[in-house]
Amino acid sequence: MKIRLEEDYFRSVIFGLQDALVSTTGVVVGISAGVSDRAIIILAAFVAVSVEASSMAAGEYSSEKAVHQMNRKSKHKDNLIIGAALMFLAYLIAGMIPVFPFLIFAPDIARVVSICAALATLFLVGYIKGKVVKQGAMRSAVEMLIIGGLATAIGLIVGNFLKV
Ligand SMILES: [Zn+2]
Repeated sequence: MKIRLEEDYFRSVIFGLQDALVSTTGVVVGISAGVSDRAIIILAAFVAVSVEASSMAAGEYSSEKAVHQMNRKSKHKDNLIIGAALMFLAYLIAGMIPVFPFLIFAPDIARVVSICAALATLFLVGYIKGKVVKQGAMRSAVEMLIIGGLATAIGLIVGNFLKV
């Protein structure tokens, strides 16, 4: 069996995974800094992840449709609905990773575990991406860790300044 990897699906999944890890970590750490009730932190995080996953899926659909319309003669064989669904699932699954520690640990510990888990997953996603595109898995892992880590750090710093 040969699985053909559609480029646009691949981009959707990578985009969804990375964005979910970065933004959910910011959301969950931000909320937990201001609220101590674990149930509220978890509920708010779940809401944020679901809303964001839907919004990203809608964005994926519209932006990919625009690209398809722009070059009609191009070789786009990807289905817009599948692309949007992949974005939704990638976002939802990766978004649960920074939330999960809050189900187990007290917020102070969960915050640290959450950031570490998100960074470790970014590294893993980068590694797998490198394997898939056959271009230095380790290099790809470090690159995604740095890019995602920087975005996460900026989010956390801004959040901390504004106390959101
Ligand atoms: Zn396409």
